[in-house]
Amino acid sequence: MTEVATRPAMPRESDWSAAAAAIRELAPTGRVLLICHVNPDGDALGSMLGFALGLRRFIEVAGARRRRPGGSAPALQATVPGEFEVPEPFAELPGVDLLVPEDEAYEDPDLVIVFDVAAESRLGALVNRLSLARETIVLDHHASNTGFGSIQLVDPQAAATSVVAEQLLARLDVPLDAAIAECLYVALATDTGSFRFDMTTPGVHEMAARLIATGIRPGEISRRIFDTRPFGAMKLFAEVLARAALDPTAAGGKGMVWTYATLDDLRRHGQRPYVMDALIDPVRTVAEADVAVLVKQVDEAEWAVSLRSKGAVDVSRVALAMGGGGHRLAAGFTGHGTPGDVVVAVREQLDRFLI
Ligand code: 5GP
Ligand code: MN
Repeated sequence: MTEVATRPAMPRESDWSAAAAAIRELAPTGRVLLICHVNPDGDALGSMLGFALGLRRFIEVAGARRRRPGGSAPALQATVPGEFEVPEPFAELPGVDLLVPEDEAYEDPDLVIVFDVAAESRLGALVNRLSLARETIVLDHHASNTGFGSIQLVDPQAAATSVVAEQLLARLDVPLDAAIAECLYVALATDTGSFRFDMTTPGVHEMAARLIATGIRPGEISRRIFDTRPFGAMKLFAEVLARAALDPTAAGGKGMVWTYATLDDLRRHGQRPYVMDALIDPVRTVAEADVAVLVKQVDEAEWAVSLRSKGAVDVSRVALAMGGGGHRLAAGFTGHGTPGDVVVAVREQLDRFLI
């Protein structure tokens, strides 16, 4: 067996009941802070906002019963580490009204709940809230999860963190409504590649069926999340794809295709960094390469690196070796130097982790 050493087990019954008990105890009268990972994707934002909407409902019901002082609104915030910018495709998600910039997030929350965060490094400056809170519940599905937080609901077999979020809402007897469902659907569709990847199990389709039954419009949501981008983004994609290079001898002869995008590329085309999140998808279609690499500039000599595999390489192990993390077939890390330096380092690691 060559399993990742840190691979967590499925959540136990005692973990689920501890999480539900902490929420029942702390949420109705305390300050609750929800946090997802830096540079949030659809699963990070969707699972957090869907859970936030459900939790708001739970607090309103439970708070009314516990006579919250002055009948005040729930003390519930959701936040994202780093620059406060909701990527345009997610700007209309239900629940965005619960988002606050990180510098307005509760300094001393009673309860912290984190979403889709595999390692504390993905929390940026908000990592200090973990030790300040009375309880920290971690909802995640990364096999590379490092096991932080006081209550861990980490299910490596879940297709998305929203699968875990839906289960926890059910434990709290919060019914799905269309707003919650839209968020959880965006998360599920994002992490399954629109229900194309291998983890698209019968359970995933059953969850999608429950969500769609609330009345949400999958076609409209998918167009907004996956199939809409500015003209300048298309021109940017064309330029970045045109400079892709194919290295057929990499990864034990399984092949690697790679390209890079700079901050200057973004500036010239008038685009925001999040548009590059979708750029790995055309790169990974290349038939001659098992592994696809996209190196995205975030600072002078700092690069966010996306890794994808069709199955020959466990790229989460490559990412872990480079200080990042992720899943077997989709992972990432922060690289340094030039794009060439980063790719040479990836190439060196690839042969070590052939599956
Ligand atoms: P993406 O390439 O779409 O940014 O990320 C693919 C997967 O790798 C996601 O599951 C994401 O959470 C994980 N990932 C990406 N970058 C990092 C990183 O710097 N550190 C860790 N721990 N995981 C990452
Ligand atoms: Mn995820």
